[in-house]
Amino acid sequence: MQTGKINVQTENIFPIIKKFLYSDHEIFLRELISNAVDATQKLRALSSMGNIKEDLGDLTIEVILDKEKGTLTVRDNGIGMTAEEVDKYINQIAFSGAEEFIKKYKGKSEADAAQLIGHFGLGFYSSFMVSSKVEIFTKTYKKGPGSKAVKWECDGSPEYTLTETEKAGRGTDIVLHIADDSKEFLEESRILGLLKKYCKFLPVPIRFGNEKTWEKVEGEKDEKGNDKYNEIEKPRFINNTNPAWKRKPVELTDEDYNSFYHELYPSTFEEPLFNIHLNVDYPFNLTGILYFPKVKRNIEVQKEKIQLYSNQVFVTDSVEGIVPDFLTLMHGVLDSPDIPLNVSRSYLQSDANVKKISNHIMKKVADKLEDIFKNNREEFEKKWDDIRVFIEYGIITEPKFYERAEKFCLFKNTSGKYFTFEEYKNHISAAQTDKDKKLVYLYTSDADEQHGFIDAATGRGYDVLMMDGPLDNHFINTLEQKFENSSFVRVDADVIDKLIKKEEALPSKLNEEEKNKLKPVFEDVAGKEQYTVVFESMSETEMPVQITRPEFMRRMKDMSMLGGASY
Ligand code: ADP
Ligand code: MG
Repeated sequence: MQTGKINVQTENIFPIIKKFLYSDHEIFLRELISNAVDATQKLRALSSMGNIKEDLGDLTIEVILDKEKGTLTVRDNGIGMTAEEVDKYINQIAFSGAEEFIKKYKGKSEADAAQLIGHFGLGFYSSFMVSSKVEIFTKTYKKGPGSKAVKWECDGSPEYTLTETEKAGRGTDIVLHIADDSKEFLEESRILGLLKKYCKFLPVPIRFGNEKTWEKVEGEKDEKGNDKYNEIEKPRFINNTNPAWKRKPVELTDEDYNSFYHELYPSTFEEPLFNIHLNVDYPFNLTGILYFPKVKRNIEVQKEKIQLYSNQVFVTDSVEGIVPDFLTLMHGVLDSPDIPLNVSRSYLQSDANVKKISNHIMKKVADKLEDIFKNNREEFEKKWDDIRVFIEYGIITEPKFYERAEKFCLFKNTSGKYFTFEEYKNHISAAQTDKDKKLVYLYTSDADEQHGFIDAATGRGYDVLMMDGPLDNHFINTLEQKFENSSFVRVDADVIDKLIKKEEALPSKLNEEEKNKLKPVFEDVAGKEQYTVVFESMSETEMPVQITRPEFMRRMKDMSMLGGASY
C-alpha cells in the first residue's frame, strides 16, 4: 500500500474548489462522464489500430445510484489505469491542473469563477465539489506485470492512499461518497436531469438504471379482443450516440433533419423553415446543424436556443459572443473543440478562432439564403414573412451581412408583391421623374390605420412599402445610410403633395369660408404644431381632408420612445 500527500506544498484545495464553484457543482458529472467517454474512445482507437486483439465486449458506461450507501458511481469499460498511471495522471497532472485553476481564480467572484471553469478546467477533481470521499477502482487493458487492479482513495484532504485491489473487468469505477450538503445528487430525478442535459449526444452508450415500459404480449388478447401489454423493466439508455450533425449530409433526408430538430426541442411542435449543415476541418474544427425557426415578432424571447457542444459533450446554450447577435435567433447545435470554453466571454470575443468560426457561420447562413433566393424564389417569398425579422436584424447590426443580404433582402408592398432592393428602386423611379430630388420610398407602418393615405398615394401612381415589423424603424435608418440619394417617408407625412404636380389635384368641394371654419377644428384635435390639414384630393374616392405630419417630426417622436437613440 502506498500513501502520500498529493502535493506537500499546497494548502488543502478542496474547500476552495467547493466554495468557488458553488453555483456550478453539477458539472462534476459531465467531467466524470467525459473522462469515461475518453477512456472508452481510446480503447476503441487502440483496438482499431490492432493493438488489442480480443473482443472489447460491451462498452456501455453505467451511472449507478446507491441511496443506502450514499454513493454515485460512474463505471466504464475503457482503457483503465495502472498504479503508475493513477499516480501520474490523478496525483500529479490532474492535481496540478486543479491547483493552477484555483490559483488563477481565487479572488474572482463566484459567478466569474463558475464561468471560467467552463469546459474541462477542473476535470476529475471537480468531484470533490459534491463528495466527502472519492474512490477510484481501476484495471488497465494492459497485460503482464504492473497491470494489477488498483484502488485510489482520498477524503478531500491532500492525503491519498493507493492500494492493490481485486476487480473483475477492465476499466474504471469512480465512486463518489456524496457529502451531506450535496444530497440532491442522490436523487434519481436530479441525476437523470443532468444526464439528459449534458450527455444526450455522447458517442458511447450511457445507461442509468432501468425504466418501465409496456410490451405487447404476442398472440394474446384481453376479453374485449384488444392487444395485451405487460409492464416490463428495461435498461434506461440516455443518449443518441450518432446524432445527425455528426453524420454526412448525403445520408440525411429532410425528415431526418426535422426529426433531429424535435429531438433537440421536444416541446416545440413547429417545423423549422430550413437548415444548414456545418462541417469544417480546417483551419478550425466545427460541425453542427443550424435551423431557421419561424422567427416570431418578439425576437428577445427567441434567443439562446443554440446548444454548444465540445466533442458531443454539452457545454452551454448561451452562444452570445461566439456568434453575431442576430445569429443567436437561429436554433440548432454547434460542436467545436476549438472554442476555448474555460475562458471568459470577453476573451472569447477577441479570440481569433472564435472570430473565424463566427464569420464562417455568417457566410454559410448568407450562402443558404442566397441559394434559396436564386434557385427557388417562390419558396423564398413564401418564407419571407417568417425570416424577415432575422434578415433585418442582421442588416442593421452586421455590415458584412448587409453586403450579402442586399442581393436577396426583399421589400413587400401594400399589395403583397415582393421586390429586391434593386427591383424596387427601378419600380418606383419610373413614377418619380424628378431626378434632382431624392428618391422617396413611401411606406406604411400600419396598413389599417393609414389606409386612407395609402389609397391616396397608390391612387396617384405611387407604391407603398409595408414596414410594420418590430425592427423597421432601425431598418429604415440603416437603409437611408446605405442607399444613395434616397429617403424613406411614411405615407401620412406631408410629402405626397410635394411629389405630385399641384394642378393634378381636384379642387376641394368646400369653399374658402368653409375651409377656414373647419381647419381650426381639425388642427385643434390633431395639434397644430405637428400636423398639417389639407383639403385637396386626387380623386372622388379619396379623403376630402388629410391630416399629415412631417417625417422628421414623426421619427423624432419614435426615436425618443426608443430611449432617445440618435441617428
Ligand atoms: P483531462 O480529462 O482534461 O485530462 P481530468 O482531470 O478529467 O483531466 O483527468 C485526468 C486524467 O486522469 C485523464 O487525462 C486520464 O488520463 C485519467 N483518467 C480520468 N478518468 C479516467 C477514466 N475513467 N479512465 C481512464 N483514465 C482516466
Ligand atoms: Mg477530463
